[in-house]
Formats: sequence, C-alpha cells, structure tokens
Amino acid sequence: MNTIDNPGSQVPYRFKSFREVASSTITRLRKGEFKGAFNFLVTEFLNATNKGKILDKQGKLYCPLCENHSGAFIHLSNSFRFSFNSVCPYCSSRARHRGLSIYYKELTKSLNANHKILHFAPEPVFYSIFKNKEFEYQTTDYILKDVELPKQDVQNLNIDDDTYDVILTNHVIEHVPDDLKALQEMCRVLKKGGKCIITVPGNYNNAHTVYFKDLKNNGHYRDYGMDFQTKMKQVFSSVEAIDLHDLDTTGSMSIPEKELLFVGIK
Ligand SMILES: [Zn+2]
Repeated sequence: MNTIDNPGSQVPYRFKSFREVASSTITRLRKGEFKGAFNFLVTEFLNATNKGKILDKQGKLYCPLCENHSGAFIHLSNSFRFSFNSVCPYCSSRARHRGLSIYYKELTKSLNANHKILHFAPEPVFYSIFKNKEFEYQTTDYILKDVELPKQDVQNLNIDDDTYDVILTNHVIEHVPDDLKALQEMCRVLKKGGKCIITVPGNYNNAHTVYFKDLKNNGHYRDYGMDFQTKMKQVFSSVEAIDLHDLDTTGSMSIPEKELLFVGIK
C-alpha cells in the first residue's frame, strides 16, 4: 500500500458502477457486516442519485484543500454511523481534513528552520501545507511504502527521544492493539513542549470508548469516546480538545459538530 490508498489521497472521487456496489455489498455480507452492508447500500444509492448536485461547481459547499465548490459532498458510512456530505469529489478530503487544514495552516505560521514535524500515515491532501517549507517535514508509517521512515510501529518507534516539535497522526492508533503505548512512544520522541496532534474515529457524545471483539470494523480495535482525552492526560502534561466544526467560521465546509481534534503537549 502507498499513501494514495489513504483517505485524503488528493485523487478525485470515482463514482461506483452498479456492479462495484453489488460486489462490495456481497463482500461485507460474507464478512458478517450486515449493518455495514445496509448502510453502504443507503449511502451509495444517495450518492448515485445526487451526482448532479455533487458535481455542481457553483454549489454552496467549499473545500479549502482543493479550493473547489460543490453542491454536495459524497456520503460515507460504516457499521456505526453515516457521515453525510463527507468526501470532496475533487480531492477526496474528508470533513476532518478540511477542519485540520485550518488548524495546520495556523500552526505552521509559528514554525521555522529549527522545527521538525513527523507525520504518521500522511494524507497527500496536506502536502501543500507541509512540503517545501522552511521547517523539516518527515513522513512515516508501518505499512505504507512511499514514506521517508517506513516500517515504523507507533507502539515501538525506532526513533531517538526528544526529536520532533510536532507529531501529526490522524486515524492511526485505532488500528493498534496498545494505544496507550502508542501515545507514550509519540510523547517520547517529542521535544519538551512539543505538540502531538491527534484525530481518532469516535462518537464524542459517548463518555466511554467501545472496544471491539474482532477487527471487522475497518481493522479498528475501538471506537473512541471522550475518555480518550483522559487516556492522553496519562501521557502528556496538558491536553486540549478542539472541535474542528468551530474552526470553519464560514459554515461552508460541511464539518459536523463534535469532530474533535486532540492536542497533547509534552
Ligand atoms: Zn477538495
């Protein structure tokens, strides 16, 4: 796998054929993902019937990453939830990417040639914010091949202590068995006062994380609740939760409420 297989690939969305929808539905049913298969059929039906609106470049929705307008974004779903108007048809940004782009652009204003960033499972939609800038920017992953530091297990990093000023990690640690160890490792490689900027899939109306018995849900070990903030506080000296919805002051980027970003400071 390469970064182009990641969400936020910067590749335009390709509408699925009837055959592809049928085949994906059957795959889900075979895995026992009955709710996921039903939700997938609902969202694909809505996307197919909404195609004209999605491709309307005079529409009210705006993507700050590719700077295109749309009448609607692509709907997504999994076994747990629907994400309506989530994916930009032109660059495949998700709601979190659009919100994060606002936060990241503000963050980079304070960085200079002395600063080093490490980005786990990097999303190509963000490269224009981070690449070829004054500060040093490195990418890493355990599985993705086209990164600067490949085969790095976030639970056991082969990186010196106190190396980075900023760590970026979106939708990564739900895939590892020991997320507390992952947080400890990321904190270890941060310099004192450095920032670990994290998003994870979850429902922040829930106080508690839901733990899965198997990996049928996109390979996730858990779906986070607000207790994730408590877990981060076990590791970092201070932790802040920021609602990405509030960063979109125009209200045009289709970022739902409680789309949370967590910032841990070492
Ligand atoms: Zn876009």
